[in-house]
Formats: sequence, structure tokens, C-alpha cells
Amino acid sequence: MPTRPVETASYLSAIRRMIRAAGRRAGHDDVEELTQLLELRRELDAAVLTAVVGLRASGWTWRQLGEATGTSKEAAVLKWASKVRHVQHRLDCVDPYCEHRQADGA
Ligand SMILES: [Zn+2]
Repeated sequence: MPTRPVETASYLSAIRRMIRAAGRRAGHDDVEELTQLLELRRELDAAVLTAVVGLRASGWTWRQLGEATGTSKEAAVLKWASKVRHVQHRLDCVDPYCEHRQADGA
């Protein structure tokens, strides 16, 4: 397996520092930047879902994902299972008229 030029943990640390800095910067400038800053929360939720989909596809169990996120298997299932199924359906579905494909536009 090829090594990544930057380890994921370092990458995530850099993003965390950038988000903190973005908060300070937005606090000095235009109020519209506050809106943009809030939109990052949606991006983060989508990125977490992408990660969960990938981890599930790699064989990680709901119990392991629950433990890794400081909750239980049941909480992890409740939070992500239907969203993961939805994403996987969009990836796998071959029905050109599928309502899920059209509704998401992604
Ligand atoms: Zn479908």
C-alpha cells in the first residue's frame, strides 16, 4: 500500500487549527463569513458520514464505531445506519428512475 504524504491524524490537526483560525478571522470581518463558518458544520457532518460509510465497507462493526465515538453500538446504529444504507443505495442502485438518485442530486 502506498504511504500518504501526510498522515491522516496530522491532516485532521491542521484542519482543526484552520477552523479555529477561521473563527477568529470571521470575528473581525463581514457577518456573511459567519454564515460560511456555520456551513462548515454541514460539511463536517457529510465528511463524518463518508468516513462511516468507508469504515463499514471495510468491515468495522457498529459496536466498534460506537466505542470509537464514545457511545454504544445502539447509539451508532441509531445515528448512522439509515444514512449509510441511503448512501450505499445511491452508489449501488442501477434504476435510472430511482427516487433516491433524483432527490439527492449529489
Ligand atoms: Zn434506487
